[in-house]
Amino acid sequence: MERLDKRAPFTATGGVIPPEFQNIKTPCYILDEKALIKNAKLLGEVSERTGCKMLLAQKAFSNYDCYRFFEPYLAGTEASGLFEARLGAEEMPGKEVHVFCAGYRADEFEELLQYADHIVFNSPSQLLRFGAKAKVAGKSVGLRINPECSTQEGHDIYDPCAPGSRMGTTRAQWDEAFQKNPELLDLLDGLHFHTLCEQDSDDLETTLVSVKKHFGDLASRVKWINFGGGHHITRPGYDIERLERCIRMVQEEWKAEVYLEPGEAWALNAGFLLTSVLDVLKNGETQIAIVDASAACHMPDVLEMPYLPPLLGTDETEEDGITVRLGGPTCLSGDVIGEYKFRQLPEYGDLLMFGDMAIYTTCKNNTFNGMPLPDIWLRHGDNTMQQLTDFGYMDFKERLGSRE
Ligand SMILES: *Cc1c(COP(=O)(O)O)cnc(C)c1O
Repeated sequence: MERLDKRAPFTATGGVIPPEFQNIKTPCYILDEKALIKNAKLLGEVSERTGCKMLLAQKAFSNYDCYRFFEPYLAGTEASGLFEARLGAEEMPGKEVHVFCAGYRADEFEELLQYADHIVFNSPSQLLRFGAKAKVAGKSVGLRINPECSTQEGHDIYDPCAPGSRMGTTRAQWDEAFQKNPELLDLLDGLHFHTLCEQDSDDLETTLVSVKKHFGDLASRVKWINFGGGHHITRPGYDIERLERCIRMVQEEWKAEVYLEPGEAWALNAGFLLTSVLDVLKNGETQIAIVDASAACHMPDVLEMPYLPPLLGTDETEEDGITVRLGGPTCLSGDVIGEYKFRQLPEYGDLLMFGDMAIYTTCKNNTFNGMPLPDIWLRHGDNTMQQLTDFGYMDFKERLGSRE
């Protein structure tokens, strides 16, 4: 997969650590209002030009203090289950709430109906179990399809079209279910597919060919088609014209309303993780620095994906740079953020700034090893700083036992 442009994240700070970041406690995340609004405007323009509806997939970014920046540009939120649906309903009142979950629970479904207006099922059996209930409650009902078209290589955990995938309904699965329960078809208001991850619109175009081939007959019967997420629309160089052609093609050919539900794209390159150097050491030839942020706890995708997050002031093309392995303070040997080429060896107390840290971080971190949750700050458009959280010991303890 293509590596993100490592310089882009720092244009928002002029390539230096800004003075307003200097005296706050590390580790901490900083969300950047200007960058969030810039992304939102770009997404809003796509929706304005094409008439498609944009949703925020909250699993990538759910810092609701920032929802107001997105509000003028989106139709609503997308949730992965009950809690995110409730968050969307509470924090974006009056907007649409869509939910997709691979397995809805009978004991939560009634409550879910209070928050969500569009409910997408993963399988015909889930549709059969809950679809009629959703319809009676006046909800718009969709089925997630699996167009069986893998457009990404080497990242099976992000490929819902991999063989044996549990995500979405293949045509064979649908045909079998429809034979037994033809009434399933009448429940469908929409189709949903989600097959991309950090991809450009050429892969969307390829996917749509497969959607047409396997599900064209259903697509022409439904009111809406949701293209899922994984569209890297706000990345410099993304082919927006092709995306808009894809949207128009579906609107015209299937007379359907088009939804997109990106997560990353809303908050791409719109946040930082600030960390301080706690120790500098050497093991044989390996130069090491321990920082107060942890890959395992505070940027889990670095290990899961895996990827190398951008770090200000380092340059892998620098000939005489000093390669330093940065790792967290936890006991996990693999808690290594990556190896970076520094111009000068970092020292105890140095402040380091990682870029592109607004997505899949604050909503995905953990307190393994009793690591504190980094506080979340917001840098406003006028560069003033607002502290949004004040995490401490109780945020660690309360997840582990009684509150007595
Ligand atoms: C993850 C996910 C998204 C958002 O994906 P991004 O890669 O963050 O754009 C949208 N819809 C569904 C169903 C998802 O699982």
